[in-house]
Amino acid sequence: MSKTIRIAIDGPAGAGKSTIAKYLSKKLGFVYIDTGAMYRATGLFMVRKKIALENENEVVASMDGVGIVLRHDGADGTQQIFLNGEDVSKQIRTEEVGKAASVISAYPQVRAKLTAQQQKLASEESVVMDGRDIGTVVLPEAELKIFLTASARARARRRFLELREKGVAAELSEIERDMEERDKRDSERSAAPLKQAEDAILLDSSDLTIDEVVERIEGLLQEKGLLAEKAAEA
Ligand code: C5P
Repeated sequence: MSKTIRIAIDGPAGAGKSTIAKYLSKKLGFVYIDTGAMYRATGLFMVRKKIALENENEVVASMDGVGIVLRHDGADGTQQIFLNGEDVSKQIRTEEVGKAASVISAYPQVRAKLTAQQQKLASEESVVMDGRDIGTVVLPEAELKIFLTASARARARRRFLELREKGVAAELSEIERDMEERDKRDSERSAAPLKQAEDAILLDSSDLTIDEVVERIEGLLQEKGLLAEKAAEA
């Protein structure tokens, strides 16, 4: 079997992880795995079932009802996420669902189920996987680990513009506050908190374009001889 390559991208909300991971995976011909979407779909399930998010036992007891499938379109690198057979790719992108995901993702049994699914996906093909604990917990042996960050202001501004583009009214200061709250919860939880892996490379995207970030990552892959490896295989 040919050797697969795993690229882990972690970091706080709005650092540009998914944009970069999507772009990079398309360029390299790898599969993009958005682990945040999996936590969001789980959060959406709990919101719809009106499960009290703060009640760990209730959340964990309902996990058997959560069936998540990621579907990739190899041709254009897009990804859809299905919750029990329903395409929820759009429904998971609200602030309410993001917050629900952040609350339920602190529970170890919720994480255990999704982590196992993520590890299985990465064992099958070369991946770019983004999240909060990819380099530390999900893929500790990843060939390249990036910790992507940006200033709180830059991250909030990006999210604000993204929402405005979708026609969603939002307040910049409110977004910044919500983001800080979510990052605090993600960083302070005891189960797989958001933190830079020791062997991860820190990239600050505050003043970089998408192309510049992707170029730096490609440079790192080249330095590690990973791009050559992939090309030799093809
Ligand atoms: O990345 P995204 O904003 O879509 O993630 C939503 C939430 O899911 C995060 O705030 C975090 O609480 C949780 N998450 C996680 N571990 C991951 C990915 C996301 O705990 N690997």
